[in-house]
Amino acid sequence: MRAIAVTPLVPESTRLVELEKPEPGPGQVLVRTLSVGVCGTDMGLHRGAAGQAPAGSDYLIIGHESIGRVEEVGREAKGLAPGDYVACPVRRPCADNCLNCRRGEADMCLTGTFAERGIKGQHGFLAEYYVEEPRWLVKVPPALKDVAVVLEPLSVVEKAVAQVFAIQSRLLSWEPRRAAVIGTGAIGILAAILLRLRGLDVYSFARAPSGGARTRVAEAMGATYWSTADLPLTSVARELGPADIIIEASGNTEAALAALDALGSNGVLCLLGLYPQEPRQEIAAGRLAFEMMVSNRLVLGSVNGSGRHFEMGITHLAEMEQRWPGLLASLFTRRLPLSEFAQAFQRPPGEIKTVIQVTEE
Ligand code: BGC
Repeated sequence: MRAIAVTPLVPESTRLVELEKPEPGPGQVLVRTLSVGVCGTDMGLHRGAAGQAPAGSDYLIIGHESIGRVEEVGREAKGLAPGDYVACPVRRPCADNCLNCRRGEADMCLTGTFAERGIKGQHGFLAEYYVEEPRWLVKVPPALKDVAVVLEPLSVVEKAVAQVFAIQSRLLSWEPRRAAVIGTGAIGILAAILLRLRGLDVYSFARAPSGGARTRVAEAMGATYWSTADLPLTSVARELGPADIIIEASGNTEAALAALDALGSNGVLCLLGLYPQEPRQEIAAGRLAFEMMVSNRLVLGSVNGSGRHFEMGITHLAEMEQRWPGLLASLFTRRLPLSEFAQAFQRPPGEIKTVIQVTEE
């Protein structure tokens, strides 16, 4: 079978490899991959900035946003049948078997020794086939199969939004009205959609000028697009009113810091971006710490999503399709055949989500 692999930490080693088609063990199923989304983490793997091969292998099959179809079921594998559509959560419990991994919350791992398929220590899904145990697979209704490749990034956003609401149970009553989402990649757009589904007024921020594709996507879901060139994040509270929730999904450290100024009393800022470790930033630490204290503000980081966040995502995908037909489809700005995988790592302007079509249905 054909697969796309990297030699971890070697820049631009991404290549097509020919491998044996995997055989499912008795407790596993064989999945035929239909399509795989490409994200910022994959760009990092391609650049050689991250990644870890499985033990005993000198390469890593990449790809962690997938939709596939069950092709074969091992004799002891229960709950799935050939023809079922499936998506697959990424993270697997840590080697130390920590409290959270033990209880099925590997996304909240305490040790950092977890594995992630397609990223860290286990092969991913950008291959014609993969094998997995049913407990790690999430069944997708056939009606959603064409949009369900966004389930993995959506699971990340589902977790983040659920965390924001869970954390606000610290208040006896909380009636959030205004949310800001920074970044208009797939994660930012999906976050804006989820907050719109919860009935909030949503402002979507990015650097691109107003009037383009990002404005149209925001308007399609009833959100408002602002270019930070027209409205800097530090002026948002004054111009639009302070935000109850901010989701930072641009991965821009300066934006993450400026977002603190846009937050209202008791507000929550959730950091979801891939922030570069360098360069160091100078911040007015005393002022920021004082303002956080004096207005009960919260900042939380969130990563990954587990099976239950995939299930939440399935419910919301159906709602999105019903409420804003065509909106999800408009996020797939490019579909490339597997043989043209290399183009996925050159991102054209206006790109939201590139999908590699592994198998035509
Ligand atoms: C994936 C997450 C993963 C994170 C860190 C993201 O791109 O969507 O599932 O936990 O990268 O590796």
